[in-house]
Amino acid sequence: MSGKVYLIGAGPGDPGLLTLRGKEILEKADVVVYDRLVSLAILGMCNPKAKMVDVGKMPQYHKVKQSEINKLLVQFACEMPSATIARLKGGDPFVFGRGGEEALELVNAGVEFEIVPGITSAISVPAYAGIPVSHRGIATSFHIITGHERDVIAAPVSGVIPAQAGISLDFDALARCPGTLIFLMGIANMDFIAQRLVECGKDPKTPVAFIEKGTTPYQRTVMATLATAGETIVREKVTAPAITIMGGVVELGKSLAWKKNLPLSGKRLVVTRAAKQASGITARLTALGAEVIETPMIETRTLECPSVIPVPSSVIPATCGERSRTKAGISSAIFDTLADFDLLAFTSVNGVESFFKQLFDAGYDVRILAGKKIASVGKITEKKLLEYGIRCDYVPEDHTGEGLGKLLATLVPQSTEGATSNPIPQILLLQGNLADDTLLRHLPQATRWVVYETLPVSELPEWKREAVESADAVVFASSSAVENFVKVMPQSVEGSDSYPEPRASNLNPRTSFCIGRLTEATARKHGFETITSDETTMDSLVKKIVEYYS
Ligand code: SAH
Repeated sequence: MSGKVYLIGAGPGDPGLLTLRGKEILEKADVVVYDRLVSLAILGMCNPKAKMVDVGKMPQYHKVKQSEINKLLVQFACEMPSATIARLKGGDPFVFGRGGEEALELVNAGVEFEIVPGITSAISVPAYAGIPVSHRGIATSFHIITGHERDVIAAPVSGVIPAQAGISLDFDALARCPGTLIFLMGIANMDFIAQRLVECGKDPKTPVAFIEKGTTPYQRTVMATLATAGETIVREKVTAPAITIMGGVVELGKSLAWKKNLPLSGKRLVVTRAAKQASGITARLTALGAEVIETPMIETRTLECPSVIPVPSSVIPATCGERSRTKAGISSAIFDTLADFDLLAFTSVNGVESFFKQLFDAGYDVRILAGKKIASVGKITEKKLLEYGIRCDYVPEDHTGEGLGKLLATLVPQSTEGATSNPIPQILLLQGNLADDTLLRHLPQATRWVVYETLPVSELPEWKREAVESADAVVFASSSAVENFVKVMPQSVEGSDSYPEPRASNLNPRTSFCIGRLTEATARKHGFETITSDETTMDSLVKKIVEYYS
C-alpha cells in the first residue's frame, strides 16, 4: 500500500479561505510539499511533525522543477506506505496550478490521490478588492487567462500565439469578448498584452485593476485603463503575485472596496507565547491587519513512560499515599498498577496521545482499560479519546479543569460516616508536568501521572525560521521566551538577509514588544529595541503596538 497524495488548494492567501477538507488533511499530513504562494498561517496549521518540503523557493533561489516535483510525490507515496502526503498549492490546484500534470503522474505510478479544490485567486482576489467578476448589465461572462511571460512574449504580432510556444492567446477573440478578462501571472507582459488587445479593437478606455498580494495583509489595488496599463505598472511598481482584471466591473470596485487599511496592515509580527495562550493575541493582532507568525518557545514531549507525582502527604488518604510513593520508579510495569484505578481522567489531547503512546510502547493495548470509567475535561479531548476507541463517561459542561474537578468530586463520598457500602473510587489523572493543582484540590485522593512534559523549543523548522527572520517585530511575554528565541534564532541578533521580498524586508526582527520590565531588560541585553507595555496585560501591549505603528 503506497501513501495517498492529496492535491490541496490553499486558497489565495487569507488562511480563512482554506477549505475545511484541506485543513483536515494538513493537520494529519506526514509530508507537506508546498509552493511559494502558500501563506505562513496555513503552513502553521500543518501537523507539526510533518516533513515540510518547500518546492517553491523565491525566484533567485533554486526552484524545484515540475518534473522533479512529480517524481518527489511518487517517491514519497512509494516509500511511505499508508502515509498522508499533502501537495499544497496556491489558489486552486487545477487553475494554472499544474495540478493536472501531478495527478497524471500519480495515475501512471498507480498512486492513490484525492483533489481538494481551493478558492482560486482569479475570483477571490477581485472580490477582496470589491470587484465582482460578473454583474448584471455589465458582464455576463468572465475569462481566466494566463499571461505567463515565456508563453506570451514569444507571440508574433499577428494575434494568435502558435501552439508550440506553450499556449495560444487569441487576442482577436479576447478583444471581441464582452466579458470580464482576468489575467494571472501577467504583470511582466501586461504592457504587451494591453497593446495587443487595443490593436485588436478593444476599447483603450476599458477599466483595468491590478490587485497585488490579494487577500493578504499586504493587498493593494491599483487602477488604470487599457491604454495606461503598462505605464501604470511601472510607475506604481506593481509586483507579483498580482491579478489583472479588465472590464466594466472594475468600476464597481470604487464603491465596493470593503477591505479597510487597518492599523497593522502589512506588518508581520512574531508571537512567542505558548500556542494555547497565543490564540487570543494572535486573533487581535490579525484583526488589526497584521500577519502573525505564532512561534511558541515551549513545546510538549511525551515522556518515555509515566512518572508518578507524589502529591503532598497532607492531602493523601493513607490508602492512596502508599501507592503514589512506592510506584514512582520509571518502568513499564507501572501499567500493571492501572488495575488499582477505577477512573482515568484526561485533561488534554497531549495527555491522551502521550498516555496511549506509552501504553502501546510498553506492549499493552486498550483492553487494559476494560471496565474503567473515563473522564475528559472537554470536547476536544473527548474526541481524541474516541480515536482510540474510548467513549467518555464524564465530561463537565463548562469544559474546564475546575468543572471536571467538581464533577468527579461528586462521585467521591463526602464523609467517612456510613460510607462503607460506597467505596472511594480510585482516580488517576493523566497530565503534563506543568498541570496546576486544580483537580487535586477537588480530588485530594487522586493519583497523578505525568505523561508528557513541557520544554523550551530547541529548534525551529526552516520555513518558520525564514519567516521569522523576515518579520517586523517579535512579541515577548517573558524573559525565558527572549532567551530561548535568541538561542533558536542566532541570526536574529547577528544579522542575516536570507529571505527576500515579499516575505521579507531583509530585517531580522530587532524590534520587540515586551510585557514586563524584566522581559524588557532581557530583550535589551540581547540587542533588541524594546517597546514595553504600560501594564502587564495583553490589552496594554496591543495598544502599544498600534501606537508604535501609527
Ligand atoms: N492556482 C492558483 C494560480 C497559480 S498561478 C489559483 O488558483 O489562484 C499564480 C498566479 O496567480 C500569480 O502570478 C497571480 O497572478 C495569481 N495569484 C495567486 N495568488 C494571488 C494573490 N494573493 N494576489 C494576487 N494574485 C495572485
